[in-house]
Amino acid sequence: MAIVVQKYGGTSVGDVDRIKRVADRVARTHRGGNQVVVVVSAMGKTTDDLVSMASRISETPPERELDILLTSGERISMSLLAMALADRGVAAKSFTGSQAGIITDAVHGKARIIDMTPGRVQDALDQGHVVIVAGFSGVSQSTKDITTLGRGGSDTTAVALASALGAEVCEIYTDVDGVFTADPRIVPNARKLDHVSYEEMLELAAQGAKVLMVRSVEFGRNHDVRIHVRSSFSYTTGTMVGPQEDNVEDAIISGVAHDTSEAKLTVQGVPDRPGVAARLFSTLAEATINIDMIVQNIAADGRTDISFTLPRGETDKARAVLEPLTDEIGAGGILVDSDIAKVSLVGAGMKTHPGVAAKMFGALSAAGVNIEMISTSTIRVSVVVAKDQVETAVQAVHAAFGLGDDEVLAEGAR
Ligand code: ADP
Ligand code: ASP
Ligand code: MG
Repeated sequence: MAIVVQKYGGTSVGDVDRIKRVADRVARTHRGGNQVVVVVSAMGKTTDDLVSMASRISETPPERELDILLTSGERISMSLLAMALADRGVAAKSFTGSQAGIITDAVHGKARIIDMTPGRVQDALDQGHVVIVAGFSGVSQSTKDITTLGRGGSDTTAVALASALGAEVCEIYTDVDGVFTADPRIVPNARKLDHVSYEEMLELAAQGAKVLMVRSVEFGRNHDVRIHVRSSFSYTTGTMVGPQEDNVEDAIISGVAHDTSEAKLTVQGVPDRPGVAARLFSTLAEATINIDMIVQNIAADGRTDISFTLPRGETDKARAVLEPLTDEIGAGGILVDSDIAKVSLVGAGMKTHPGVAAKMFGALSAAGVNIEMISTSTIRVSVVVAKDQVETAVQAVHAAFGLGDDEVLAEGAR
C-alpha cells in the first residue's frame, strides 16, 4: 500500500466546517487504498494570536515557554480532525511532533530536525489508522524540551515525515492552486507553474514566496521527496516540486518573489581599512543575526557607509551589539530603515541569458521605482525598494518578463 502524506495549512483548517471538509478528503484518500499521514497547522491565525498574547504578558517571554504555547494551536486542529474522521467511520490517531519522533536540536523558535524516529506513526498505520501529526513541533534530543521549527514549519514536518516513511508523495494543501509566477494576491494574472525545480523553489521560498517554507524544500531536495503543492478547495492538479527535468530547456525566468519582513541598517562613516568589515559582521554573526544583502559605498575621505538587510525583528539586537563597536572603531552613527521590501527575479535559465538584470532595472525605472540595493546569484537578481512600492515593483517586473497568463487577465477584465 502506498503511503501518502498530506499537509493542510491554517486556512484549510480555519474553522469547524473546513476541518470537516478536510476529513472528507482524507477519508476518500484512505478508502482509495492508501495509508494516509496528515500533518495539520493551527487553525487560521491561531499562531499569530498566541504570539500576540505572549507579547502582552511579557516583552521577552522565555523561549521554552513560548514554544510550548505555540504548539498548542496544532494540538487543537489534530484532535478535532481525528474526531471528524472517527465520525466518518475512519479510525484515526493524532500525535504531537514529539510523539511522532521528530527529534530536533535545542534552538527554540527555529529548531532544526536532526533525526526522525516515527515508529509510533508506522505502527498506527500498520494497524489501519489514519495518522494525524501536529505540524511545526518537535522535541529536543539534548534537553527533551518541546521545540518549534519556525513559522511555516508544518511544511517541513510533512516533507520530513514523507522522507522517513518512504511516502510516494508529499501533498501540501493550501489556499492557492499551486506555486505561481508571483504571489497571486499581488499579481492577479500570475500563472501557475506545473513543475518547478528544487533549486528554483529554494530561491523563491528564500526570497519570500511563503507558499513553502525554505527548509521543507531543502529537506525535499536532500532526501529526494516529490512535493505536490495544491489547493485544499479544489481537486485540480497543482505544482510538482522536484529535480530539474531532463530534456526540458530551462525557462529563463520562473517567477518573482517579494519579502517585506526585512529592515535595512546602515553604519555610517566606517573607517576604510582592512579588517573593519570583518569586525562588524563577525559581531553580528556571534549574536546569531542573519544578514542578507550587503552594500558598501565608495569611500570618500577614508570613510565609507556599510548597509545591510536583516530580519526586522532583529534590528534592536543588531543595534545593541553594534553600538559599542562603532565607538571603538570610530564609525559614525547607525541608521535603521524599516520601510523596505525586497523584490527578486528567479530563474535557472538566467545563467545563460545576459541582460536579465538590465531588463529588470529598466522595468523598475519605467514604473518610477527607485532601487536602493542590489544583489545577485547565478539564478536570481534581488533589489531593495521602498516598502510602499513593493506591489508596483512586483507587477512591473512580472509584466516586463511576460510571465502572466493572458487568459486569466482576459477573465479578470470581463
Ligand atoms: P498555509 O497556511 O497553507 O501554509 P501560507 O499562507 O503559508 O499557507 O502560504 C500560501 C500563500 O503563499 C498564498 O496564499 C499566497 O498569498 C502566498 N504566496 C506568495 N508567493 C506565492 C507564489 N509564488 N505562489 C503561490 N503562493 C504564493
Ligand atoms: N502554525 C505555524 C505557523 O503559523 C506553523 C505552520 O502553519 O506551518 O507558522
Ligand atoms: Mg505556510
